[in-house]
Amino acid sequence: MDRSTRRSRLTRRLPDLDAEAFLVTRLPNVRYLSGFSGTNGQLLLTANDGLFLTDGRYAEAASHEVPDLPPFIYSGDTLDAVVRACRQVVARQVACEVDGLTYRAWSRLRGAGLVLLPGDREVEALRREKDPDEVALIASAQAIADDAFEAITGKLAEGVTERQVSFELETFMRERTVGGPAFDTILAFGENAAEPHHHPTDRALGRGDVVKMDFGCVVDGYRSDMTRTLAFGDPPTRLREVFDVVRAAQLAGVDSLKAGMTAGEIDQVVRDVIVRAGYGEAFSHPLGHGVGLEIHEDPILRPGGEEVVPRSAVVTIEPGVYLPGVGGVRIEDMVEVTADGCRVIPRTPKDLIVL
Ligand code: ZN
Ligand code: ZN
Repeated sequence: MDRSTRRSRLTRRLPDLDAEAFLVTRLPNVRYLSGFSGTNGQLLLTANDGLFLTDGRYAEAASHEVPDLPPFIYSGDTLDAVVRACRQVVARQVACEVDGLTYRAWSRLRGAGLVLLPGDREVEALRREKDPDEVALIASAQAIADDAFEAITGKLAEGVTERQVSFELETFMRERTVGGPAFDTILAFGENAAEPHHHPTDRALGRGDVVKMDFGCVVDGYRSDMTRTLAFGDPPTRLREVFDVVRAAQLAGVDSLKAGMTAGEIDQVVRDVIVRAGYGEAFSHPLGHGVGLEIHEDPILRPGGEEVVPRSAVVTIEPGVYLPGVGGVRIEDMVEVTADGCRVIPRTPKDLIVL
């Protein structure tokens, strides 16, 4: 879908929102609707008109990244520029992103005479269903991550630290994509794997440790996200058992997910496997999330979630079991949701690798 079609899908909502224009300020949404990849840009869209606002640093980038919207290049204060842009398109009733304006911005714009109306995750809702081009970019990012995983497993040796391994993983990905890592790599050895989001430390790898790696990279703005847990030498029996439970749960999720299920339904399918094995309390986070221009985006697959998972969504299925003082296991794949199932994107296997 081209960007002008995306924009008209959004502006079609203006009458319902009782607004004359939509002000888009969240950068991933600006990028989705315009193609702009810089760090300062706003969109002001009316039914038949639109402006792309940015400052002089990005005038040149805007001319090729956003060729199909008139540029509004400003110097100085962004909020003053927004007010002037609203005058230019003759809009006073303006829908804003509820997660995209600070209280300061909201007060200033109201003070300048604009009537601000809530546009609640309108662009995020459009972004839930991916175009084939978007899925292809996510898959290219994942292909690099798959290669990184393969390369790094060859380098795990007694005494290497979490920080060294995460640095090597990230370097591998940086060498292959200008986008670099998609988020701070989570790398945990042994008992540190009991923390779902552990930051790498100087903990050294020893025999019998599990190694939990959660990482991804960015290609053309699109992210990948995968977790694998492997064992360096024979893991404790309890963790081997936990590994089998988590893998069975993850596979149940992959086998069951299809378009039309609610977030809560798919979370339940996976969680039930873990609860039945007696580890329900140890699965302490939601099942998964959408991935795209942001690492965590809609739909969020959480217990009781009523949001319906649409066709062409790309979501993670990432159950985990965490045992304080012992370790933890998480297995995470991104999948592309189809009418009658889902397609696993990573090619990295999920069997327990014992190095
Ligand atoms: Zn992850
Ligand atoms: Zn994730």
